[in-house]
Amino acid sequence: MNVIVGLEIHCQLDTKTKLFCGCSTDYRDDEPNTHVCPVCLGLPGSLPVINRKAVEYALRVAKALHCTVPEESVFARKNYFYPDLDKGFQITQYDRPLAVSGYLDIEGDEGEKRVRITRVHMEEDPGRLVHKGGMDRPRYSLVDYNRAGIPLIEIVTEPDLRSPKEARRFLNKLRATLEYLGVFDSEKEGSLRVDANVSLEGSERVEIKNITSYKGVEKALTFEVTRQKNALRRGQKIVRETRHFVEARGVTTSARSKEMEQDYRYFPEPDLPPVRVAGWVDGIVLPELPDARRQRFMAQYGCSLIHARTLTGDLRLADFYEKVAAGTDPVLAATWVADTLLGELNYRDMPVAAVPSDTFAELVALVQEKSVTDRNAVEVLRILLDQIKEKGSCEGPRACVERLGLRIIGTGAREGDDPLASAAREAIAENPRAVEDYRAGRKEALNFLVGQVMKKTRGCAKPSDVNAVLIRLLSGEE
Ligand code: ZN
Ligand code: MN
Repeated sequence: MNVIVGLEIHCQLDTKTKLFCGCSTDYRDDEPNTHVCPVCLGLPGSLPVINRKAVEYALRVAKALHCTVPEESVFARKNYFYPDLDKGFQITQYDRPLAVSGYLDIEGDEGEKRVRITRVHMEEDPGRLVHKGGMDRPRYSLVDYNRAGIPLIEIVTEPDLRSPKEARRFLNKLRATLEYLGVFDSEKEGSLRVDANVSLEGSERVEIKNITSYKGVEKALTFEVTRQKNALRRGQKIVRETRHFVEARGVTTSARSKEMEQDYRYFPEPDLPPVRVAGWVDGIVLPELPDARRQRFMAQYGCSLIHARTLTGDLRLADFYEKVAAGTDPVLAATWVADTLLGELNYRDMPVAAVPSDTFAELVALVQEKSVTDRNAVEVLRILLDQIKEKGSCEGPRACVERLGLRIIGTGAREGDDPLASAAREAIAENPRAVEDYRAGRKEALNFLVGQVMKKTRGCAKPSDVNAVLIRLLSGEE
């Protein structure tokens, strides 16, 4: 059964002021209803004026998504009643959107894949309801209009995605693209909301509303695909409906079908002239986007495709990597950033922005100059990340290595002051049985001795060095 997924994505454009008034968009830490004015409260007689920056940001997106941009687009009123919508209608675009028929290339389930974009349009964000006493059965709800009028772009895809994983990859690529364009900040709470249409080939489609996180999209779709497959297996029919994703429980629940029977009575917004953008798009110069940067990372730094893809998949990570690579071996730096650091950050739920790039570069340099083993470098990284998490800063990697005595013990050319050789001699003296076994041809006895030496050197020696030293000593070359 083929899975068919299409997405509608709402992103907040990262402008300083709202879409139709001068209110500040920087509302997240402020008291409710302090970023409001007659326009965004929808008071009678107030008139909206379009924010030029918001249009420019939307055009950047349209261009980056290879859309066709008509010379003129038109705002419309979408009428419906809900307490977070103060005017009783949302100003959006309907039959004449800002941009149409674009695409975004992603890494699909079966290699490179082109996902078609149906349209990109501008609209205003509604306010926000705060439910007191739980989402399912709130005792009462409060409304905050600070968010009302924040500029949004809505991006609608064709039903080109074939799995929950592809949907997540698409979103990640879209997020990266928007951040590279400098029009979107994914770290701002609530800056992205997704509705997903999902069906199994030949069955009705179901719309999942209001998914608010990147991980949520894959979770909601995975749950929904399984639910639909199970229903068909039991001989039931899939009904066309709207469902809500309950993030905390990882399930979708049916919304009352009434909520679907909406007539928005769209009509052109009489208070705003059409948006004329003739020639504007041609003048927009796009910055380097993720695909181009990935190619450059491979050519300039010798990154593997997989590393280049990971590193350029996030603007902050890509910038971080370039700073680290500037002072160290770029291929080694790629491994340490893309594999080691990312894993440790994910585990701690920390952003890359929390890590000073020069600190991390110092750690990579220690590995590069073989002052510390890979394993101990990971240990040091964990200690530093925990320090950052706890108090916001950390000691230097070099200082940490010295403090814990983790400097690598090499094979030392001279006898006498070679700590690795003396540790090996000790292990040999303490384990006559193992030595006997080894001389009798039992290879696993050597592994045992290597383990003993590693213990004595507290992991500060490379296993290959220990191996070599033991073999030299045991063959009686002394
Ligand atoms: Zn306002
Ligand atoms: Mn919308």
